[in-house]
Amino acid sequence: MIKMFVIPFLILLLVYYPFRSILNWLLYVTFSVSYFTWLYITAAWGEYSVYLKNMYLIILGISIFLSCIFEVKREPTLHKKSMWLPRVLLIIISILQLIITSYFLNILKAPENERGISLALPFKSTGTYYILHGGKNEAINYHYTDLFQKHAIDIVKLNKLGATKRLFGSSHPLNEFEIYNEIVYSPLRGKVVKVVDDLIDQPYKSPDKDHLGNLVVIERQGVYVYLMHLKPGSIVVRSGDTVEEGQELARVGNSGNSFEPHLHMHAVRKENGTAISIPMYVEGRYLKRNDVIGINGP
Ligand SMILES: [Zn+2]
Repeated sequence: MIKMFVIPFLILLLVYYPFRSILNWLLYVTFSVSYFTWLYITAAWGEYSVYLKNMYLIILGISIFLSCIFEVKREPTLHKKSMWLPRVLLIIISILQLIITSYFLNILKAPENERGISLALPFKSTGTYYILHGGKNEAINYHYTDLFQKHAIDIVKLNKLGATKRLFGSSHPLNEFEIYNEIVYSPLRGKVVKVVDDLIDQPYKSPDKDHLGNLVVIERQGVYVYLMHLKPGSIVVRSGDTVEEGQELARVGNSGNSFEPHLHMHAVRKENGTAISIPMYVEGRYLKRNDVIGINGP
């Protein structure tokens, strides 16, 4: 909350700060661009509304424009001598901030030198699907620190306001979440090698940390694809079944170690007896936080 709402507004208020030189102003601009880029990339906007992130960019643009106008008016105070050290420092800090910004942008790229698997989107219903966690950095994907599921994605669905659930109110029943009870389809052709279907759905924000969740694992050519947190009693395949891509498997629930209803998906390959997560290309895309996949109606 602080990083998404408090700090940005403090930064925007700085536009009224009396910049004593163009370098002061440059520092403000590079700092705010750097912070907003980081926020734009790393915040899980779907928790509030994905439309907010675009609004923030517009506000940032306006604030830079306004500060530029204010600064031009203060031009006469610029030409003081004996200020070279602070000036050099300001330039160095500004350049560093731009370098940091380019690092943020870099985490959005797909991983290189890792063999991945191509999968279909496991949903077919009309609507807007959204990646809550995913990508090749901890800042956008909390799974990333775990070798077993580092390239995992958590998929939810957005309502008309661009959020995963109703925004206000203290309690959030599971059926308030747009993704809850959505039919999950197999993202690949393969063999079902594991099914767990005996766990209950957890209430919102009450994960069962001792269990992964109800799940289906599908194997193809040594790659195992995990689909987790399924709704109890919804799984329609059995261990040993061969499934086609696009075949119905289950429904989205909130079983096991899950904060809110979503579909967790990851793929592993065994290397020297250890299951290691590999990149997934869903409909050709390496999905990361804030990616959106729309399915249009008929
Ligand atoms: Zn997950």
